[in-house]
Amino acid sequence: MSSNCDVLVVGAGPVGLFLACDLTRRDLDVRVVDKNDGPTDLSKAIGIHARSLELFQDLGIIERAIERGQIENGALFYSADHFLADIRLDKLDAPYPMLLDLEQAQTERLLMERLAELGGRDERQTELVGFVQDDEGVTATLKTSSGEETCRARFMVGCDGAHSAVRHGLGSDFDREAFPGNMLLADVKLDWELPPTASWSNSAMTACSLLPPSRAAARGSSPMSPAM
Ligand SMILES: Cc1cc2nc3c(=O)[nH]c(=O)nc-3n(C[C@H](O)[C@H](O)[C@H](O)COP(=O)(O)OP(=O)(O)OC[C@H]3O[C@@H](n4cnc5c(N)ncnc54)[C@H](O)[C@@H]3O)c2cc1C
Repeated sequence: MSSNCDVLVVGAGPVGLFLACDLTRRDLDVRVVDKNDGPTDLSKAIGIHARSLELFQDLGIIERAIERGQIENGALFYSADHFLADIRLDKLDAPYPMLLDLEQAQTERLLMERLAELGGRDERQTELVGFVQDDEGVTATLKTSSGEETCRARFMVGCDGAHSAVRHGLGSDFDREAFPGNMLLADVKLDWELPPTASWSNSAMTACSLLPPSRAAARGSSPMSPAM
């Protein structure tokens, strides 16, 4: 089977979904494909900053994002036994002077909804397994639950995350260094006596902050010792 489109977006995370929405509303014929069978169910990126909120406004999803999230006008920081700092965000020179707490799972669902309203759709269980490009465009090979298909696109955009198949296929460098050691990251339930907007860390750099919107769970992170 083969198909044509203007733009093939590989990856339906926040970046791919946002791009698909933006190109679709500009009347381009867009396909957005993802190898997973649905959006993430993890909290991942939990804080949306002022400039991103302006882009949400432009895309027509700001009201829904604010309704589903939690507005933070500032953040309080505590160490193991004392108060460290109060950082205000409501003085920012921006239309939405705040941090919006919204789990990435919610952000992705919001963008999928908007894409559907604009007449688009994210195609799941569809993995980019190869591609070749020429002067006019790209021919991509996609693996779906019913076999392989070919997609011919004027442009292909790699929004396929840290281990990007598009980047590898292009042979592009990704110049970076990893921090030594492993981090333990977990969404947990815990008893919390500090204010809801507080973040806490101790001298071993274990850090905790409450997750939106119910604040019934907290995000904790800690360096892992070899014994853990
Ligand atoms: C545990 C964890 C915690 C995090 N916490 C934070 C945080 O607190 N704050 C913060 O700002 N960021 C955080 N991040 C990072 C944040 O999640 C990423 O920056 C964000 O997801 C990047 O979005 P993206 O759309 O570029 O890529 P991704 O969200 O990685 O999406 C890429 C998509 O491409 C798909 N894909 C990959 N390869 C293919 C292929 N060959 N064919 C088709 N589809 C493919 C994947 O299935 C995936 O859905 C965290 C990440 C993790 C893993």
